[in-house]
Amino acid sequence: MATKGGKLYIIGIGPGHPDLMTIAAQKVISESRYIVGNNTYLNQIKSLLGDKEVITSSMGKEIARAKNALELASSGDVVTIISGGDSGIYGMAGIVLEIAEKEDADIEIKVIPGVTAASAAASILGSPITGDFASVSLSDLLTPWEDIEKRLLSAAAADFVIVLYNPKSRNRNTNFKRCVELVRKHRSGSVPVGLVKDAFREGMSTVTTTLEDALNFDDFVDMHTTVIIGNSESRTWGNTIITPRGYHRKYDY
Ligand code: SAH
Repeated sequence: MATKGGKLYIIGIGPGHPDLMTIAAQKVISESRYIVGNNTYLNQIKSLLGDKEVITSSMGKEIARAKNALELASSGDVVTIISGGDSGIYGMAGIVLEIAEKEDADIEIKVIPGVTAASAAASILGSPITGDFASVSLSDLLTPWEDIEKRLLSAAAADFVIVLYNPKSRNRNTNFKRCVELVRKHRSGSVPVGLVKDAFREGMSTVTTTLEDALNFDDFVDMHTTVIIGNSESRTWGNTIITPRGYHRKYDY
C-alpha cells in the first residue's frame, strides 16, 4: 500500500508549565493540522492551538483517541497526539504504537520526548534521583496489584530510590498506604520522602518528610502527586533531598 504522506507525532507536553515543554514538541504542534488529546492536557497548551483542529475526549478513552489519531494520519494528514509529561512514560506512545503495529499502519510515526513527572518532581525536591531509581505506578487499572507489590518489594530490597506515579485515584485510596507499609519492610523509617503535588502548575505544593511519617500526609497525596522515596543513602538538607551519586567514595571535597 502506498503511503499517503500522513504523519503522526506522539508528544509529551511536560508537567504543566509551557516553559517545560520542549521546542521540538512545540514545532510539531505548529506543523500539525489535528491535535488529539484529553481536555486537561489540551487546556495546558491552549495558547499553541490557534487554528488547529482539536479533537478531545475524556480520560479513560485512550484506545479510541489512539485509533482516531492513526486514522487521521492514515488519510494523509499531519497529526499530533499528546500526553502529559513524557508520552513514553505511562503515556500514549505505547498504546498508539501497539495499535499501529496491529494495523500495520503505513505512516510515519515519531515519538517526541518530554519532561516526565519524575524529573519535574525531583528538580523541585533537589536531587533525590541522582543515581539508580525505579519508577512504579500504583495504578492497578492495567497492572495487577500483585505485580505492583512484587516490583515495590524488589525495588525496596535492592535499595533503589523509588518514584511513585499514580499514588492515588478516586477509586484507589489505600494503595499509597499499602505501598509505604511494603517499602518499610526493607527500608529504615528515617529515609527522606518527597511529595510533590501539581509540579510546575498553579497551586504547586510540596512536602519533605520521612518514610515513618509519610502516612501523616496520606490526605495530601492525590492523583496529581508524585512521590519520591529515598534510598539508604538519601539525606535532607533543609527541605532539599540529596541522594549522593558516590563522589564521596572517590574524592575529598
Ligand atoms: N506521562 C506522564 C505520567 C502520566 S501518569 C509523565 O511522564 O509525567 C499520571 C501521574 O503522573 C500522576 O498520577 C502523578 O503521579 C504524575 N504527574 C503527572 N504530572 C504531574 C505534575 N505536574 N505534578 C506531580 N505529579 C504529576
